[in-house]
Amino acid sequence: MDCMKCQSLIESFLKQSLTPAENDEFIRHVKGCPECYGELEVYHMVNTVVSQLDSGEEEEDIDYKDSLARMLNRAGTHKRRIRVAKYIFMTAIVTILIIIYFLIRGIVF
Ligand SMILES: [Zn+2]
Repeated sequence: MDCMKCQSLIESFLKQSLTPAENDEFIRHVKGCPECYGELEVYHMVNTVVSQLDSGEEEEDIDYKDSLARMLNRAGTHKRRIRVAKYIFMTAIVTILIIIYFLIRGIVF
């Protein structure tokens, strides 16, 4: 992804309307490109302020840099979380099958 494409996706990223593949590429580029990261920072800051004004909440001392970094990390760990969920699901299925197997054996024998 080049800088022009990346910067054209900033708004969609903040609205979380990118496809997972676009999202991955976007994050990879932004993490390695100070120029785009800076651009994203500005958008994120404006976005946060605007949504604060919209909701009429008291203006808090938000650390924009920190909240953006957290947002990028969250987006990056999304895939891993899906993998863990799948693993837990599979383990549960296998456990249930084993229990059913022993129940049936218990009934038969
Ligand atoms: Zn760039």
